[in-house]
Amino acid sequence: TQDGTPPRAEIVIDLDAVRHNVGLLAERAAHSGAATMVVVKADGYGHGATDVARAALEAGATWIGVCHLEEALSLRRAGVTARLLSWLHVPDEDFAPAITADVDLSVSSPRALEAVLAGAHRAGRPVRLHLKADTGLTRNGCPSAQWPELVEAAAKAEATGDAEVVAVWSHLASADEPANPSVDRQAARFATAYEQARAAGLRPIRHLANSPAVLTRPDLHLDLVRPGIASYGLNPVPWAGDFGLRPAMTFRARVALVKRVPAGEEVSYGGTWTTPRETTLALVPTGYADGVPRALSGRMEVWLGGRRRPVVGRVCMDQIMVDCGDDPVVEGDEVILFGTGDRGEPTAQEWADTLGTIHYEIVSGMVRPRVTRTV
Ligand code: PLP
Repeated sequence: TQDGTPPRAEIVIDLDAVRHNVGLLAERAAHSGAATMVVVKADGYGHGATDVARAALEAGATWIGVCHLEEALSLRRAGVTARLLSWLHVPDEDFAPAITADVDLSVSSPRALEAVLAGAHRAGRPVRLHLKADTGLTRNGCPSAQWPELVEAAAKAEATGDAEVVAVWSHLASADEPANPSVDRQAARFATAYEQARAAGLRPIRHLANSPAVLTRPDLHLDLVRPGIASYGLNPVPWAGDFGLRPAMTFRARVALVKRVPAGEEVSYGGTWTTPRETTLALVPTGYADGVPRALSGRMEVWLGGRRRPVVGRVCMDQIMVDCGDDPVVEGDEVILFGTGDRGEPTAQEWADTLGTIHYEIVSGMVRPRVTRTV
């Protein structure tokens, strides 16, 4: 707020933590001789794509990765000049502005390649291509049956000066699961796809590793790694260690109203919780419209006044109620909904565990206009 008091609710991003995490990841990659691309799609997994990209580049990353053309162009408009890859498009998009803006583009089919080459013609300059192989994720990526055709077409485009084939790449399905055999199966198929590209005369670099593979599979670092979630300090492979990652996102708010309530009062919609005794309740002005999932009703705690306290009754659109017992809670007090966990406060991982999802979904879901973001 203008007078410096904390706002009603905010996502606070610790860019020092991002720098720390990317530094760790880039060092691991460098140890294998690989460069680092930090993935900032979905507005930097909810952390702010531009701020994260700048922090990542300061900390040793040399590439930035995003899904959409618009995400790439918005980074360029913000002055991010590093190598930048965009990988998920529909064929009728206009690729010319991205090619003009020096964005590397991924293609997963001969048809997509044609569309991108048309963009290069309009832009009047060659496109830098990353050929994406489907090695077993069966999502984006070119299936092996069509791969020779894609590689031939790309080699032709390179020969005519319409394209530079920068990379052959793929994405792993289960690198976060210990000893899942699909990782090695994908690595073997990837090696085949790469050899086919070389046999066609191409000399691309290779990239395959997401955060789990950066942390647990140095043999798959290849030429370039693509960590997303670990850059934000969230560990996708807790079974393999903690790696010194520091969560960068804290969700905090301030107490809006404190009230003393007698025993036997029903709290919030539906009266699902009744005060078992006289108690002090604190109203925290955040709800499901601010990113507090309603499914956490009756199953969440917050950090308030130096300890964890239960959120009671249903999570509403704008409000939750916290049971503070007889403790002296004051309006304006800071409330941590989730944070680093260092003091014992809840974490994004804890929300994910309770909800039966992954921390990726929690933080990337925090892109909401109602909650301001402070860096
Ligand atoms: N590479 C691609 C193609 C992705 O889609 C993603 C994100 O899902 C990543 C890399 C980064 O993955 P992670 O966040 O697990 O590191």
